[in-house]
Amino acid sequence: MSAHIHAEQPALTKNQSLVYDALTRSKAPLSAYAILDGVREHGIRAPLQVYRALDKLLEMGLVHRLESLNSFVACSNSECEARETIVFAICEKCSKVSELADDRLEAQLNALASADHFSVHAATVELRGFCKQCRPTG
Ligand SMILES: [Zn+2]
Ligand SMILES: [Zn+2]
Repeated sequence: MSAHIHAEQPALTKNQSLVYDALTRSKAPLSAYAILDGVREHGIRAPLQVYRALDKLLEMGLVHRLESLNSFVACSNSECEARETIVFAICEKCSKVSELADDRLEAQLNALASADHFSVHAATVELRGFCKQCRPTG
């Protein structure tokens, strides 16, 4: 009997799990250099080691890259690997990032693209604004 694949985390190398842990501990997205600062005491000293670990984690879907911030976040949606569209809501005040998904949005993006005979491989939508806690009241 085979285990449920999605419930299991792929085996990570030492560097990969150090980088992944740094991202899961952080409440805000981290740049590669901020990650390096966090893992330096564990023996990772070269930016290249961080970039290599990040590449693999991105490939495995455990980590996402936020283009607009040039930073990385740990995936917070166990079902997102089944999706090609991911939406991030990024708070500009507290830097909190929520990972969202919506089937209708994905269908609409696909429809928009196919009207131009474009086949979508992946889409990342980054929303900038204020989270519930930071939203100005009134
Ligand atoms: Zn995700
Ligand atoms: Zn906020």
